[in-house]
Amino acid sequence: MVEIDLDHLYKKYDDGENYAVEDFDLHIKDKEFIVFVGPSGCGKSTTLRMIAGLEDISKGELKIAGKVMNDVAPKDRNIAMVFQNYALYPHMTVYDNMAFGLKLRHYKKADIDDRVQNAAGILGLQPFLDRKPAALSGGQRQRVALGRAIVRDAPIFLMDEPLSNLDAKLRVSMRAEIAKLHQRLNTTTIYVTHDQTEAMTMADRVVVMSVGHVQQIGTPAQVYENP
Ligand code: ADP
Ligand code: ADP
Repeated sequence: MVEIDLDHLYKKYDDGENYAVEDFDLHIKDKEFIVFVGPSGCGKSTTLRMIAGLEDISKGELKIAGKVMNDVAPKDRNIAMVFQNYALYPHMTVYDNMAFGLKLRHYKKADIDDRVQNAAGILGLQPFLDRKPAALSGGQRQRVALGRAIVRDAPIFLMDEPLSNLDAKLRVSMRAEIAKLHQRLNTTTIYVTHDQTEAMTMADRVVVMSVGHVQQIGTPAQVYENP
């Protein structure tokens, strides 16, 4: 069971006058698919980065599976993360991009191979394992970024606007792929977007944010169909 508790989280950047995130309070259930939605600058990424451990929490507690995580290093959080810009290594092949985090963590070679092949199978990347990112389409690069994230089988999956660099048509098909991936992997997932359609079609619950505050939390039907 991987529940995530955001217990009255606040974030103030050193050079910021106001709180970037103020009193964010949310209990995320095991295997839930949560979407953070809201305009640019409202604190979505900051919240995600606090959960990943990439930003310090100014006030409040982050709990994962009941354990307080505020001071736990990112690499010890067992979280997979996908970013908007994919963060692929241009000089490495698709295979090596996916294997990189496993090598760092000293997984055995055979285990790495199993995991990369398995992820490549799930994501349809087997024909491209020897290519460099520059020789891939946008959608294929996005799949490699997903592959990098899923090879470790982390129980928590954080995605920060992963589709925003893709064209509209590809976004629709990748949306469906991510939803399928969630069904298959059964991760507790938080997905950040400013795209309402993504929120409506993917979320179990939507968190609507505006300038640092949580405005509304509910199912897509509650948030979008009852004005
Ligand atoms: P969103 O993801 O919703 O676009 P962010 O979490 O990136 O919003 O930003 C929330 C607020 O925090 C914004 O006002 C932004 O300018 C500010 N902010 C984000 N990152 C930093 C930083 N590293 N240093 C100072 N302020 C930041
Ligand atoms: P990976 O397993 O994806 O290779 P790293 O071992 O490089 O990740 O980084 C450890 C942690 O640092 C990750 O779990 C993630 O929370 C964070 N992190 C920071 N930058 C990145 C990035 N560009 N890609 C993936 N994780 C990152």
